[in-house]
Amino acid sequence: MKLSERLKEAGLLKQHFLCDGQWQAALSGTQFAVADPATGVQIASVPNAEAADATVAIDAAERALPSWRALTGKQRARTMRRWYDLLCESAEDLAVLISAEEGKPLNEARAEVEYGVSFVEWFAEEAKRIDGDVLQSPHSDKRLLALRQPIGVCVSITPWNFPLAMITRKVAPALAAGCTIVVKPAEQTPLTALAIGELALRAGIPGGVLNILTADSANSVLVGEVLTGDPRVAHLSFTGSTEVGRILMRQCASTIKKVSLELGGHAPFIVFDDADLEGAIEGALSAKYRNAGQACISPNRFYVQAGIHDRFVARISERSAALRVGNGFDPGVNIGPLIDAQAVTKVQQHVDDAIRQGAQLVTGGKPGELGFFQPTVIAGVTHAMVMSREETFGPVIGVARFETEAELLAIANHKEYGLAAYLYTRDLARAWRVAEALEFGMIGINASAISNEVAPFGGVKQSGLGREGSKYGIDEYLEMKYLCVGLQ
Ligand code: NAP
Repeated sequence: MKLSERLKEAGLLKQHFLCDGQWQAALSGTQFAVADPATGVQIASVPNAEAADATVAIDAAERALPSWRALTGKQRARTMRRWYDLLCESAEDLAVLISAEEGKPLNEARAEVEYGVSFVEWFAEEAKRIDGDVLQSPHSDKRLLALRQPIGVCVSITPWNFPLAMITRKVAPALAAGCTIVVKPAEQTPLTALAIGELALRAGIPGGVLNILTADSANSVLVGEVLTGDPRVAHLSFTGSTEVGRILMRQCASTIKKVSLELGGHAPFIVFDDADLEGAIEGALSAKYRNAGQACISPNRFYVQAGIHDRFVARISERSAALRVGNGFDPGVNIGPLIDAQAVTKVQQHVDDAIRQGAQLVTGGKPGELGFFQPTVIAGVTHAMVMSREETFGPVIGVARFETEAELLAIANHKEYGLAAYLYTRDLARAWRVAEALEFGMIGINASAISNEVAPFGGVKQSGLGREGSKYGIDEYLEMKYLCVGLQ
């Protein structure tokens, strides 16, 4: 079935990019194809932006800034609330676009829409609460104030794995703060981004406040150089790999931009002997197999204590083997395809490496057609194996056995990554002890669905800088200005 036929409103399938409130072609006139990862079939084509298009988009964002910034928080909140309502009304179509270009099962795509739009609602509300402070002055003839003001023109570069949520988590706080923004979504998933833009226009968000440039991987590098090098841009928000984050941070250094980075992760999933086994199994299944394991907070190392280890491995293997892999539009499918052939190769290499080094394959371990990979459980994983160090980004559960809490703490932290960690225990004192010792930005204690609009999302070490969502997330898009008033 053609993608436009799956949509209730075919007008949400945009094949131009959004700049200055207009749907435009690239200046070069070139386009690139968007394919469904479950079938390999082309579903759309969109403009392939180059450096000159990026400059035009920054021009538009710069022009739109004074009037958007001058609105009251309450006025911006009302427009954003309309945007939220329209996103909710189009939720099913947005889910269809996500499934079509990213591959995740439709139910998961629906959950992503619900999650992603919650940031628009939240930050629409926060727009009214951007307060400053009156400070207690050390001088009787002076009054001191701290104001929080929009940082200015912002840019965002986002990944393919959550095509809607990774954009709303950035655009919503930027707009609420009074900033304007240029977004560059990933090559594989431009369609959801463009539909979000169409709904923003319909909601009355003025032209130039939100601009969305689409580009293929080669051109993304050129566009990225302009977005991170233009001195008119004050802030970069990037979600993606640590490797690319490093490049973009370096590029931002020449004009000293503020940067917010949400980068790679390598989450440990820790199960102590006293854990509720079924609770831990449910948590592991949902955290690991969500989006076929292609999530930054997906557990990549499973540490299970000796007394519960064999039961954990048996149960998780049985449950994993029962999951259905297939096209995300087919009813009953639990796991969709990986994003592309390169992703499948990487997952296979991690599995093969573990087995070559002595781990035992308990279930799965093989790719299917196109981008599909069987849910896989491997026991006997050691620290020397690649999957213990690098993000697998696939549906693989590699289990290592540990004996004592001290032994666990010696291996659970990661040299480079510090995004999320999970631990399961019924011992309250242990939960505190271990959570405090884990060097990660987010810890799930007997919980694996940890992300929501109220919570500060972000990592430590080379997993990132700054936080998204929560009452803290808007600070990324604000500057503090100090006023010293002399009483003469
Ligand atoms: P990626 O390769 O780093 O790409 C992310 C974005 O950066 C894409 O839009 C990509 O464009 C663009 N890009 C790549 N190289 C660039 C360059 N030199 N200059 C400018 N832009 C460039 O990451 P990915 O493979 O899409 O996503 C997976 C990674 O994201 C994983 O490491 C995952 O852990 C991380 N992630 C982190 C979070 C978090 O919140 N911490 C959330 C989700 C994902 P093209 O697509 O056009 O190449």
